[in-house]
Amino acid sequence: MKKKLSITILYTLVISSMTMMASAFTIVIDAGHGGDDFGAQGLHCFEKNINLDVALQLGNSLSKEQQARVVYTRTTDKTVSLQDRTLIANGIKADLFISIHCNSMPHDAVGRERVNGSTVYVMGQKTVDDNLKQIQRNVVIGDIINGNNLHQVPYDIDSAESNIAYEMCQNSIMSQSVYLANSILNNLNICANRKKIGLYQGDFVVLTHTVMPSVLIELDYISCPESERFMMSDKGVNEIVTAISKSVSLFINKFNK
Ligand SMILES: [Zn+2]
Repeated sequence: MKKKLSITILYTLVISSMTMMASAFTIVIDAGHGGDDFGAQGLHCFEKNINLDVALQLGNSLSKEQQARVVYTRTTDKTVSLQDRTLIANGIKADLFISIHCNSMPHDAVGRERVNGSTVYVMGQKTVDDNLKQIQRNVVIGDIINGNNLHQVPYDIDSAESNIAYEMCQNSIMSQSVYLANSILNNLNICANRKKIGLYQGDFVVLTHTVMPSVLIELDYISCPESERFMMSDKGVNEIVTAISKSVSLFINKFNK
């Protein structure tokens, strides 16, 4: 009975800890690639250029319209390691991590220039255990609910309750990531007229090693000349930014109580 009760208390802590506080909602925006890492190549530009352009304008929109605190993993054309990108997000205890990329078909793929559409990734199954270790290392369940006299519950490997609580914490992060990913896919379709390819799980370092809801967006295919043109245009970037901003706004309204 006592054990059951303490698990219930931990459960409350997990749910509370995943419900972000109203102030200083912090979003890390990660422009994929950069510097020596060009990413995929289009006819007129590299992926790294589109990623940075969208990331900067998205950050601008989110800080103005959502009063969010926005932190970028890069604001210029420079190389940043995947590990450093996750360290930035974990170090400042970000509430959300959004990685911006463009997709590309292989050069020898038949009809590669016709394939288009958006894909959004959340963390993959193969790296669930790695991610749980990161959460155990970086998150103290309860430390986000300071001030209401609940005990902080740092991870304890020998405690069944602690192990269960941290798994629940991870599940909560995952379901919030899926909510955001689905919303972004829908809004890219509605606001930016991008074909919806789907929501997938991927074992990307930036998703596995971050300990908050996180998504990796493949905006569209840079290997499709029409999509590349769209993503390079002011109209295209505006529509993409509007789509992602709307989804982040829905996310904040739903989870930031
Ligand atoms: Zn990429």
